[in-house]
Amino acid sequence: MSERPHVPLGPGVEFDTVRRLLEQWGPHARGTGDDAAVLDVPVGRRLVASVDTAIENVHFRRAWITPSEIGYRAVTAALSDLAAMGAAPLGVLVAFVLPEPWRERLPEIAEGIGMAVADADTLVLGGNLSTGAELGITTTVLGHADRTLRRDAMRAGDHLYVTGHLGGAGAALAAFLAGRAPTPEHRERFTRPVARLAEGQWLLAHGATAAIDISDGLAADAAHLAAAARAGVELVLADLPLVAGVRARDALASGEEYELLVAAPQPLDTDAFAAAFGTPLTHVGRVVDAHPGEAVVTDGGRRVAGGRGHDHFQG
Ligand SMILES: [Mg+2]
Repeated sequence: MSERPHVPLGPGVEFDTVRRLLEQWGPHARGTGDDAAVLDVPVGRRLVASVDTAIENVHFRRAWITPSEIGYRAVTAALSDLAAMGAAPLGVLVAFVLPEPWRERLPEIAEGIGMAVADADTLVLGGNLSTGAELGITTTVLGHADRTLRRDAMRAGDHLYVTGHLGGAGAALAAFLAGRAPTPEHRERFTRPVARLAEGQWLLAHGATAAIDISDGLAADAAHLAAAARAGVELVLADLPLVAGVRARDALASGEEYELLVAAPQPLDTDAFAAAFGTPLTHVGRVVDAHPGEAVVTDGGRRVAGGRGHDHFQG
């Protein structure tokens, strides 16, 4: 972790804004104000980095969620990619594109970002402020690991597990799109996802080899794992852990979950996982020799049409 204090900023409206952000984030931001952040990576560990963008009207709509929730989701979604690698977070860099009408809401967005880094036990290490036509939050996440979970590391015969309960985010999104209010539980799954950072590190330490975070939906992300490993995946519909009020088939296609799908050559200790994290780890299928690159869903031993995950490049 960076122990460096902030470097004092000069005068100007932009820097006044940054000063207010840093005041607001308090202990959850550190080492900002120079031209770049300088970090110590623990000896023997490797730097793990990823970047993710949340854009108004692409990833969320203003009518659906609060500015604080927009900030929370943007940073948590980015941190989730570190979780899927089994990495520990070092901190985040946050770049805002802030249209004029959004400027007065920045403190609320920042409040959500502060909560997200606090919940992930990490820090804001720097960022950028720009104006533009639509609100955008680009979060660069930095982490460290001695070894990582990899998408291409699973093999035929491996066991597949997912963390948490699935389907809530998709149910909330379906309700928003239909002009209905989602149930409070479904809404919270969409607005307050959890980056499974400690869980990812635990899974790596306890024998998992491959992982992906479920941002496109279980079926689509299982297919991404299958493609990376050139192996087939079989998911058992009846075994999916569901949020109350969600059908298994809808859970298959529910994106924005930020739960982890992991593969392990040996069975994982699901009781120990649940005891450690207060959330389930559920066996949902196997990796197979058949149909390489595909994720097949079975129901009562029969192959059924799987759900399709969210694809940014399809209608
Ligand atoms: Mg991901």
